[in-house]
Amino acid sequence: MRFDILTLFPQMVESVLESSIIGRAREGGIITVCTHDIRDYTLDKHKKTDDTPYGGGKGMLMSTQPICDCFDAVCKNLPDGKKKVIYASPRGRIFNHEVAKELSEYDNLIILCGHYEGVDERVIEEIVDEEISIGDYVLTGGEIPACIIVDAVSRLIDGVLSDKECYEKESVASGLLEYPQYTKPRVFRGREVPEVLLSGHHENIEKWRHEKSLEITKQRRPDLYERYVAQNPPIVKKKKK
Ligand code: SAM
Repeated sequence: MRFDILTLFPQMVESVLESSIIGRAREGGIITVCTHDIRDYTLDKHKKTDDTPYGGGKGMLMSTQPICDCFDAVCKNLPDGKKKVIYASPRGRIFNHEVAKELSEYDNLIILCGHYEGVDERVIEEIVDEEISIGDYVLTGGEIPACIIVDAVSRLIDGVLSDKECYEKESVASGLLEYPQYTKPRVFRGREVPEVLLSGHHENIEKWRHEKSLEITKQRRPDLYERYVAQNPPIVKKKKK
């Protein structure tokens, strides 16, 4: 899968996506992430990429020409495949696991990062398929949202994580929040690892983990809990007459 990120601050994106699991997936050729500096495409002699909004108002808006020329150049070099253009925007559909799953089905994702007061609306009309928000708050730019989208989508691509189970069993993806996890030492500042986890009895361990997941989800995310119970009704054994 290939991600192309259009931004005025490519170093912000690179600094996040060059490390750890995503960095290794890039090195291993499992995913490709290309950042494109929108400023490289401006025709303005002072390298300007923004201007004041028509109708007045505070702040600056990113102009149409540099973004659309950058986009055209990216599209020229794009390999064949299913493509989607996203604008990271607080006006967009809220990003979650389901959206990440949906996006992981594409071959090419192009993500436009806004900055300042955002972009000229005609850019959205011209090139964007969907606006996506990472939550109901406003950030200074779309670079962090773009990194979040790339990270969450990449984890779902075969080969990025060592084992598919890693994400299938995790919070939200499994339909429930994760149970508590422990590693060595067995006792830390008087706090002991639950006995069942030391028992070696796999069935009991699975049962304990599932019960904890249910308990935590019910307490913290009743919306997820209700959905899970509706989809996985408890098996009630019939009493013998
Ligand atoms: N004036 C815009 C508005 O009220 O919707 C907000 C602009 S914001 C300060 C600058 C840029 O940050 C946006 O163009 C967008 O790319 C990005 N951004 C900010 N919050 C975001 C969010 N919650 N999700 C995705 N992108 C966001």
